[in-house]
Amino acid sequence: MARAILNGTESSKLPHWESWVSSAHEVLPKQLQENLPLFVLATLLIYKVISYIWYYVGGFGVKESTRMLRNRIGRPIFKFLTSSFILKSSVDREVEKSLSAMECSLMKDDAQLGKFDKLPSDGLEDQAVLEELDLSQKVLAHSDWEGGKVSGAVYHGGQELIHLQSQAFEKYCVANQLHPDVFPAVRKMESEVVSMILKMFNAPEDTGCGTTTSGGTESLLLACLSAKMYALRHKSISKPEIIVPLTAHAAFDKAAYYFGMKLRHAPLDPKSFKVDLKRVRRLINSNTVLIVGSAPNFPHGIVDDIEGLGELAERYQIPLHVDCCLGSFVIAFMEKAGFEDIPAFDFRVPGVTSISCDTHKYGFAPKGSSVIMYRNRELRMNQYYLLSDWVGGLYGSPTLAGSRPGALVVGCWATMLRMGEKGYINSCKEIISAARELKRFIRQKLPQVCVIGDPLCSVVSFTSDQIDVHELSDKLAKQGWHLSALQNPPALHLAVTRLTIPALPELMRTLQEVVNELSSDPNKKPSSDGTSALYGVAGSVKTSGVVDRLLVGFLDTLYKTKRDY
Ligand SMILES: *Cc1c(COP(=O)(O)O)cnc(C)c1O
Repeated sequence: MARAILNGTESSKLPHWESWVSSAHEVLPKQLQENLPLFVLATLLIYKVISYIWYYVGGFGVKESTRMLRNRIGRPIFKFLTSSFILKSSVDREVEKSLSAMECSLMKDDAQLGKFDKLPSDGLEDQAVLEELDLSQKVLAHSDWEGGKVSGAVYHGGQELIHLQSQAFEKYCVANQLHPDVFPAVRKMESEVVSMILKMFNAPEDTGCGTTTSGGTESLLLACLSAKMYALRHKSISKPEIIVPLTAHAAFDKAAYYFGMKLRHAPLDPKSFKVDLKRVRRLINSNTVLIVGSAPNFPHGIVDDIEGLGELAERYQIPLHVDCCLGSFVIAFMEKAGFEDIPAFDFRVPGVTSISCDTHKYGFAPKGSSVIMYRNRELRMNQYYLLSDWVGGLYGSPTLAGSRPGALVVGCWATMLRMGEKGYINSCKEIISAARELKRFIRQKLPQVCVIGDPLCSVVSFTSDQIDVHELSDKLAKQGWHLSALQNPPALHLAVTRLTIPALPELMRTLQEVVNELSSDPNKKPSSDGTSALYGVAGSVKTSGVVDRLLVGFLDTLYKTKRDY
């Protein structure tokens, strides 16, 4: 989502964030300015007194007192100042400016299109609807995913497959998995999709099981829910905690937020960028209900040491989830495609209890499709929702949704049959070879940037201590390339797809040009628009809640029918 914001703002001028933070003194009331030294002195004094009280009366250590001072007093004061009359007008002005820029770039000029912000009183003819659809696609043209210039996002896009999926969709347009008695064919196909994928990930023949879901996020939410309920029912853990690598997908944070669990982030090994096993072990306690590893993770495309995590999981008797949402059909077929350096990551690792696999990524299924797998039915049962005394009748649903679009699972089934094992093995070979070529190119030809860790799969990410990579991102965007911007450390990544492969030579040329251009002028000031500016603000004023306001503004903009600015 952040990427969407960034892509949305790259073409328009954003204000320079640092400048308004540093120009804050201009808006301080005159009186305050004159008495600033006194003001600072008084604040320091108050700080000191409070920390002494904590130290002597409260019995806290020096470190503890300082930390408390920062968290309980420093941060609130900073927050108060930035939201108070002193800075408010200036902060507000800049936030409004950015929101306006964001709105301009997200809500493109659509004057040629019909306005349908309320239901037309008479329904339109088929022809008229179709014409409006065509016109919309023309007037509000999408990014150049067909040319392969977007990281991830569209994973296949082959016309033949799209045609087959549309036909499958048409045949099962009204199907709903909530009513398997009404749509028995969909039930059969759904069970077959799960079964095929269980075999790809070497689940135990007799006990392995799973469900389809609406996407990777739902699969991860369910894995966390199942772990939480399992721990509650079997170990009476009522304050559940999950341990996830710093690089794990945001959906785990979302799960912790939704299901009231504590999320503990395990740091990475600074060399390999895999999660640091020792740090994971130190985070384990009697409330831990789930450990997580990624194969690979989204930011850097690094596969965590799943065997190591599996040993910990077994030793402490804690479930282990492996997030293969992104790896999906690529990581599953690497061995069969002849790649040799693949560490074990699936159910063959004894400690692994659940795995998520997105069929809508490298499985090439229509969007809205993923699978969550479990080692046994007991674990799966803990994601079910059961209500036996509802006035509306006996109610049981396997996943988060109630009604579910049967057509999507049919589209997934049709895609998997069409591709077959050989089809996926071939695409795996092509994608991995291309990603490794990109990795080699960056290592050999671009000394100014540095590949993060040693990515084995389809994602390559790189950082730099010589150039501003977010500025690099802006420059690439001007040439139509949408790489994902990452933070902590600032980096960019490309998820290689079937579509990006033919465009890679062009990307390498462009990368070399732009990187050289940026590094030839080391004293150049960072640009004041686009990604780099936004990440500038993210780094400098995170505590003030400004970034959250921009995110909320972005989400609100998604549902606007007319512009505010
Ligand atoms: C894409 C992805 C997910 C889930 O994302 P959805 O957009 O909900 O499908 C989870 N984990 C990783 C590593 C991913 O790349």
